[in-house]
Amino acid sequence: MAKSEKLGVNTICTHVGEVKDEQFKGAISPLFMSSSYAYENVDVKRYPRYFNTPNQEALGKKIAALEHTEAGMIFGSGMAAVSHCLLAFLQKGDHIVLPKTLYGGTYNFIVEEFGKFGIEYTFANGFKEENFREALQKNTKVIYVETPSNPLMLITDLGMIAKLAKEHNLVSMIDNTFASPINQNPANFGIDIMIHSATKYMGGHSDICAGAVAASKEHMLRIWNLSKNMGGSLSDYTVWLLERSLKTMALRVKAQNRNAKKMAKWLQKHPLVNKVHYPGLKDHPDYQLAKKQMKGYSGMLSFELVSSVDANAFMQALQLIKQSMSLAGVESTILSPAKTSHSLLTAEERTHQGISDGLLRFSVGIEEKKDLIADIEQAFKVVAKEELV
Ligand SMILES: *Cc1c(COP(=O)(O)O)cnc(C)c1O
Repeated sequence: MAKSEKLGVNTICTHVGEVKDEQFKGAISPLFMSSSYAYENVDVKRYPRYFNTPNQEALGKKIAALEHTEAGMIFGSGMAAVSHCLLAFLQKGDHIVLPKTLYGGTYNFIVEEFGKFGIEYTFANGFKEENFREALQKNTKVIYVETPSNPLMLITDLGMIAKLAKEHNLVSMIDNTFASPINQNPANFGIDIMIHSATKYMGGHSDICAGAVAASKEHMLRIWNLSKNMGGSLSDYTVWLLERSLKTMALRVKAQNRNAKKMAKWLQKHPLVNKVHYPGLKDHPDYQLAKKQMKGYSGMLSFELVSSVDANAFMQALQLIKQSMSLAGVESTILSPAKTSHSLLTAEERTHQGISDGLLRFSVGIEEKKDLIADIEQAFKVVAKEELV
């Protein structure tokens, strides 16, 4: 167990994994942009693509401490992190089990690329133990989950997944992007590998594209062995920016948790809203499970407008809340899953998954609740007026 585990989360965010400024004693990590380092008389051959420049190495330690694991690595994007983790543990003839509702990029990577590598996959038909169990095969090597799920925020039992993995000698992986390490530490429940799109809550300001992985030293060595050949490292400048962003991650995410819960409760009472999906609401189907394994319920929620309101016109009328493909920035954003992330599914598939045309995914930022409410109210008024014309 790392010593840093005894530190509070804000202290980890601020202090763990810094590059010490020995020369000038500056307060923050200096940025080392060298792509060339001396190799004589040094144990480690440093090179950006080896993921071991001073800034990469230090940030890896912060990621490890945040996820309660031994090791951490930073990648050029969330998808670089996802693809490198999967390919590090799967080879020709192997099989993986994943949930059906996956992040679009991960889904595309699997269906478009796995055939070339001769890797088999099964999408579990739900989030319960029996759904994952019945998808297992003799050649299954990895079990992979995303919880909360996108966009309905359904919860998978992390302890159940870890147990299933141990029982069948599988490596368990989670895409922990939606929760962030502030709200969920899957290693505490026995999950082996935590993957993040650091483009989201870790970056938090919608100005960085990066990925992060946390795992044991042994698992990380296996990932590193592949990654140094694939070449998906992140520029040191962005590594440095990400370290800066992480200093305020706990503050940001906790504010977003609070805001999302308030907005979920407010939306739930609104006559033009049919349904709100937020795991922090007592009537969410997975509330008890979320309470057991999450420390906060995140800033992500989705809500369904009543069928008389045109979802697209409503989004266009919003002034403060921006339409955006991405999520988790300090600014509130909204998108239509039916028109974006889930547009490749057939209408029947979407209905089957509970994704109607009126469903909107809301990434709640740090603005004051009253301003978010005022924006939504004025947008409803605009849409209602259009209906009368
Ligand atoms: C955005 C995202 C990814 C991919 O990350 P990129 O940084 O865009 O490559 C993976 N998983 C989830 C859940 C995401 O939201």
